[in-house]
Amino acid sequence: MTDSYHMPLAEFRRHGHALVDWVADYLATVDQRDIASTATPGQVRAGLPARPPEKPEPFDAVLADLDRVILPGITHWQHPGWFAYFPANSSPPSILGELVAAGLGVQGMLWSTSPAATEVESLVMDWLVELMDLPASWRIDTGPGGGVLQMSASDSTHTALVVARERAVRAGVDVTKLVVYASTQAHSSVEKGARVAAFGHVRLVGVDEQLALDPDALRDAVDQDTADGLMPCVVASVIGTTGTTAIDPIRTVGELARAHGMWHHVDAAYAGAAMFCPEFRHLQDGLELVDSYTFNPHKWLFTNFDCSAFWVADRGELIDALSILPPYLHDAASDSGQVVDYRNWHVPLGRRFRALKLMFVLRSYGAEGIRHHVREHVRMARGLADRLAADPRFKLVAPVPFGLVCFRHVRGDDATRVLGSAVNASGRYYVTPSVLPDGTAFVRVSVGQTWTEQRHVDGLWELIDASAGGSKRAPR
Ligand code: PLP
Repeated sequence: MTDSYHMPLAEFRRHGHALVDWVADYLATVDQRDIASTATPGQVRAGLPARPPEKPEPFDAVLADLDRVILPGITHWQHPGWFAYFPANSSPPSILGELVAAGLGVQGMLWSTSPAATEVESLVMDWLVELMDLPASWRIDTGPGGGVLQMSASDSTHTALVVARERAVRAGVDVTKLVVYASTQAHSSVEKGARVAAFGHVRLVGVDEQLALDPDALRDAVDQDTADGLMPCVVASVIGTTGTTAIDPIRTVGELARAHGMWHHVDAAYAGAAMFCPEFRHLQDGLELVDSYTFNPHKWLFTNFDCSAFWVADRGELIDALSILPPYLHDAASDSGQVVDYRNWHVPLGRRFRALKLMFVLRSYGAEGIRHHVREHVRMARGLADRLAADPRFKLVAPVPFGLVCFRHVRGDDATRVLGSAVNASGRYYVTPSVLPDGTAFVRVSVGQTWTEQRHVDGLWELIDASAGGSKRAPR
């Protein structure tokens, strides 16, 4: 027994400095590691003490397990050969922001529980409105709308669905009659959110040849449901679907939503980062007809998970739907009406100081730096797409509006799967095998990892070229 089991601050300082070095070394050498963990089920657990620790251990012994046990169980998302899923980027300013947020250890549920946590968050959300050219009315400082950081795009979408349901139920509609619409290519979080929010019905409507929501299919579904006595309530459209980065027609869907009194939610979880660059913004034309919008800085904006941005056009509806005031949260600042209390903007009460890392990223890169790297990623992706398109062994299966390249082997599904497996078996690059709605196999290559450079995309191409078999030359 001792009087205190806390780590002395001098020791914290020593380990902290060493761990910053450890992270910097990790990032500097991650490209030399096999990208995917080869751990077998149970391996990591078996490497750690089976019973909970009763006695304190020297922290050096705890840290030794980082290299010995943890790293072998890590798949390296920060590897520059990471082309799988979508990126989950980190960056030095973001990591430092996480460190400070952990050090401050505040709960920003009310403005008064740490005014800086709220005010930095409101400010960066307003900055993003400007940086991404979102409707000015979504700014919290001047508009009726406002933005909040959530843990994930799924949370943002679930929140939008809860608010839309609440609006309908308060207007007297039976919840079992409410219908949510999205395309078959929308993220599964729409369906899950509809379940969480207890919607009676979900309709996944058809897509066009580019795999974007077909507005005629949406119109037909809405008309049919109305004729059947149901109540169309929400439509979720996507800018950059998970499968192939298809882009739903935001304006057309928005007009249809308005005509039927539906809530229109836009999911730009991945592609939102591209909106820093003016040349992509026509892809989100029609946002003035949108009720809510989400995008993930924790995907392509160099900001560690978790950090999902969520805006509503009318914050009153959001706050009305989610405010419950127990006596222990009564607060003079809140009563003054002059402050934002973010606890009323999402499901949890407690909240991390997520905005700090986002502010560090935005100030450290500047909009100019973000635009530069986003454009570089898109340029590299399109370069790879050009090489694939020019080679008779491959076929692109979707356009490349952002950083995702989707292709297949012309010899068919087995050859496509073998190719994807060969890339992943290399240990140097990692891609995602997937299937189109018609069942055709394809390979997803997502160019957007923080540290990816042209030489990594070139290396991937050489591996694809060497693994595909056959001749590059078109048959005569
Ligand atoms: N929406 C889209 C379009 C996505 O691609 C993804 C994840 O890839 C999500 C939502 C879910 O994101 P999150 O993990 O932040 O919930």
